[in-house]
Amino acid sequence: MAGIIRPHMLLSKHYARAFSALNSQIHTSCGLASKDHYKVLVLGGGSGGIAMAARIKRKVGAENVAIVEPSEMHYYQPIWTLVGAGAKSVASSGRPTASVIPSGVKWVKSKVAEFDPENNTVRTDSGKKISYDYLIVALGLELHYEKIKGLTEGFKHPKIGSNYSLQTVEKTWDALKNFKEGNALFTFPNTPVKCAGAPQKIMYLSDAFLRKTGKRSKANIFFNTSLPVLFGVKKYADALWEIVKKRDLNVNLRQNLIEVRVDEQEAVFENLDKPGETNVIKYEMLHVTPPMGPPAVLKGSSLDDAAGWLDIHKHTLQHKKYANVFGIGDCTNLPTSKTAAAVAAQSSVLDRTVSRILKKQTPDKMYDGYTSCPLVTSYNTVILAEFDYDGQPLETFPVDQSKESRIMYHMKADVMPHLYWHGLLKGVWGGPGPYRTMMHLGMK
Ligand SMILES: Cc1cc2nc3c(=O)[nH]c(=O)nc-3n(C[C@H](O)[C@H](O)[C@H](O)COP(=O)(O)OP(=O)(O)OC[C@H]3O[C@@H](n4cnc5c(N)ncnc54)[C@H](O)[C@@H]3O)c2cc1C
Repeated sequence: MAGIIRPHMLLSKHYARAFSALNSQIHTSCGLASKDHYKVLVLGGGSGGIAMAARIKRKVGAENVAIVEPSEMHYYQPIWTLVGAGAKSVASSGRPTASVIPSGVKWVKSKVAEFDPENNTVRTDSGKKISYDYLIVALGLELHYEKIKGLTEGFKHPKIGSNYSLQTVEKTWDALKNFKEGNALFTFPNTPVKCAGAPQKIMYLSDAFLRKTGKRSKANIFFNTSLPVLFGVKKYADALWEIVKKRDLNVNLRQNLIEVRVDEQEAVFENLDKPGETNVIKYEMLHVTPPMGPPAVLKGSSLDDAAGWLDIHKHTLQHKKYANVFGIGDCTNLPTSKTAAAVAAQSSVLDRTVSRILKKQTPDKMYDGYTSCPLVTSYNTVILAEFDYDGQPLETFPVDQSKESRIMYHMKADVMPHLYWHGLLKGVWGGPGPYRTMMHLGMK
């Protein structure tokens, strides 16, 4: 095996010096565990925040960890794709936050309102200051339905839904169930999104539902996307293009939804390649994937990058300026697709990074951008896309995962929720990396 360069070697070679300079800035207050001070403070109790609290409490003791999270309920968002298509109930997607906070970890039921990394402190919306030795930021992203003219009002009417929020996901199923005749429209916004496959998964499910109920001949189906491609990774995009052709689905690239006219049942799109040109399409059903952006509290803070996302190192997940600040998940500027699967892989790297830094050692484990998207193509098939920072497929199973598969549907609908609640959130599921190596007999 001589001559093979492994990721950790690259890391030590290129980054060790930079990290030792950064890490020498960390001043901790060793053991100062009062009510408003925690050794490790986690912001956000979603997928990444809970997973990291569960992992870190094993290193520093539960009483030294706190999570700031305002919501009473925690949701497994990936299942909303199936809720919108009537295949799962919305109730099955949520559990009380209290039940997922790792035992012994303090839950601060507030929103973080301000960062002060120079003084290792945050302020909550109730005015309370909390200080920390180490900070893990896991705030997710924000949905911006309000950026589409007429949409907020539009949700009060039938025929419009969105799988992206708890409040609107069941409206998708209502619109689909009550579809009579006309255009079914599915959109993809001109911003980064979480789970970039979800905007089209609901199109395939709607197509399957309309076929099953004998209404498909009365429907024209459109996927209007701001992107110049159907999917970012060629291997899976090629497979999806075959499916859209076979099922008579219309894909319009570089079309960005800007307005919904509810009374006329019209959606207005701007042509991103021809500024000033708009296209109006009538709809009988409209599924909107909203514009998304970084949490408002991050934007303009000293922790963000130029676009407002948390500015962290793409391999170690350590903040680029503040050595005792780390990030995970959708709120970060990691250049990979924002998914819970990515969060799982990041959690095991970040666990290692923080452990090393606690011991005053240089981080040595590299996140390769692993992310995954189970592209649901019907009520019993899935294409399981898995890939890295370079858009290279990183498939777990020794089969061609770009082929539609019933087993992968079962994985998505039944196995992955279980892995989420009992693996990721307990801090014991760090993604399929080790299994991939086993399945490929150590070759990948
Ligand atoms: C329809 C849909 C389908 C999806 N499908 C898949 C899929 O098939 N596979 C997959 O892997 N992923 C999928 N995802 C994406 C996945 O759910 C997210 O990528 C993942 O949950 C991100 O985790 P996170 O911790 O970064 O953010 P989140 O889990 O969203 O958590 C962020 C948390 O921060 C809290 N918060 C926000 N602001 C503040 C504040 N100011 N102070 C304190 N707390 C705050 C929020 O309340 C929330 O609990 C899907 C998502 C959706 C919506």
